[in-house]
Amino acid sequence: MITAPAAAELATRFEDTFGSAPDGVWQAPGRVNLIGEHTDYNEGFVLPFAIDKTARVAIKLRPGTTVRLLSTYGDQGLVTVDTAGLQPGSAKGWVTYPLGVIWALQERGINVPGMDLLLDSNVPLGAGLSSSHAIECAVISALNELTGAGLAAEEMVLTTQRAENHFVGAPTGIMDQSASLRGSKGHAVFLDCRDQSVQLVPFEAEESGLVLLVIDTKVSHSHADGGYASRRASCELGAQVLGVNALRDVGIDDLEEASGLLDEVTFRRVRHVVTENDRVLQTVELLTSDGPTHIGSLLDASHASMRDDFEISCTELDLAVDTARHSGAIGARMTGGGFGGSAIALTPVEREAEVRDAVVRAFADAGFAAPDIFTVTPADGARRLG
Ligand code: ADP
Ligand code: MG
Repeated sequence: MITAPAAAELATRFEDTFGSAPDGVWQAPGRVNLIGEHTDYNEGFVLPFAIDKTARVAIKLRPGTTVRLLSTYGDQGLVTVDTAGLQPGSAKGWVTYPLGVIWALQERGINVPGMDLLLDSNVPLGAGLSSSHAIECAVISALNELTGAGLAAEEMVLTTQRAENHFVGAPTGIMDQSASLRGSKGHAVFLDCRDQSVQLVPFEAEESGLVLLVIDTKVSHSHADGGYASRRASCELGAQVLGVNALRDVGIDDLEEASGLLDEVTFRRVRHVVTENDRVLQTVELLTSDGPTHIGSLLDASHASMRDDFEISCTELDLAVDTARHSGAIGARMTGGGFGGSAIALTPVEREAEVRDAVVRAFADAGFAAPDIFTVTPADGARRLG
């Protein structure tokens, strides 16, 4: 019987649904990216952290190949799938994420039997906090243990990436899973996307009298997918013309020469990636030496670069960032892929209410839908709860 308080409630709901107790309960967090945007697929640096909002799964393995899945969110009800012939494109809806993980594990030669699975998550969907990876990371943590696969964190990262890229069909990198699987309370995850190495960097906003606000604009502009693909293509073109494997290999000092070799638009795309990588390194240095009170201008510069050079911001994100800055935040930027989603604002605790009010008012004045505003703190990565 599972009695750990954090796990007991979900275990009871599992038993009510499926008729017997689960083998265990696992959780994995969503993530927010502090800085380092569109640098991941350029083999560069990112600095996300695991947040205090998590997906939890209760799982019981069963002989055979039948998988029964239920989420406490949405109205899809109980979904039953035979995993024997699992193929990309064969699943629809939220179950694509857990099934993608099962598929990717099987692809690695790991024998995954049937199971019952109950999901409960409080990571907001589609807000750029990676609710999808939270599910995948909770599921892979559970199955890694239950099947005895014994994959290291790096291997679980690549397996969930395979699930997202090939089963779900989303061309995502390794940042989200790395944060969710490898995050640690009070730290940001400094990830080198070239070799997957991770360094935990202290990020104790509260101890410095700060909070990190997430402003979910609730918009997702229709050109998001095409915009992502075209930015990736520009980066590849830039690297090719400059004769490097990836834009990671271009330094600030190389930019002047690059401006003579690239067309105007490609140059600006390249300049964003190159300067953003540099800002991540500076942020890591400042967090380590002086703490978070000094990183505000780097967040601001990151936003300006995404707005002007990479051109992935939008009116709502710019309004959120500008309003937050003018009403007390010490630094703010859009976070995530762009064209909508969320902004973050590093804000002194005593100015939090002012920033929230000002953003809500600005959105109402502009005729935009009300944003969702909440704080996040760096939390532990995926783990077993009971
Ligand atoms: P993000 O990962 O940025 O939140 P995605 O579009 O990648 O956005 O993932 C959102 C999808 O994840 C949802 O459409 C849904 O299919 C799934 N999802 C997230 N949380 C849950 C949940 N609690 N229950 C069921 N499905 C969920
Ligand atoms: Mg996602």
